[in-house]
Amino acid sequence: MICEQCGTENPPGALFCQKCGRQFEVQQEVPASVYSQQHKLFRCANDKVLGGVCSGLAVYSNLDVSLVRLLAILLFFASGTSLFIAYIIAWIIIPEAECIGE
Ligand SMILES: [Zn+2]
Repeated sequence: MICEQCGTENPPGALFCQKCGRQFEVQQEVPASVYSQQHKLFRCANDKVLGGVCSGLAVYSNLDVSLVRLLAILLFFASGTSLFIAYIIAWIIIPEAECIGE
C-alpha cells in the first residue's frame, strides 16, 4: 500500500497511512458483474433440468440447487397445481442468463 498523498509505503492491508493518516480505499475483490448476477433472479441457461428456474433460484438464494429442486418437488405435491402454474409463470417472466459458480 503506497500512500498517494505522501508516497510512504505502508504494510499490506493498512487502513490508514502511517505518516500522514490518509485513509485508504478498501478494495473489494468481487467484480461488479458477478455481484449483480448473484443478486438478480434469472434462469440458468447452462443448467436447465426444469427450465433452469430451480438453479436460478438456488443462485439467487445461495441455496444448493439440489435442495431447491427437492423443495420444489415437495411443494408441488403439497400444493397441487398452483406451484406448477407458478413455475410456468416464473419460466416465462424470469430472464435467462449464463449461470456462474455452479
Ligand atoms: Zn501518507
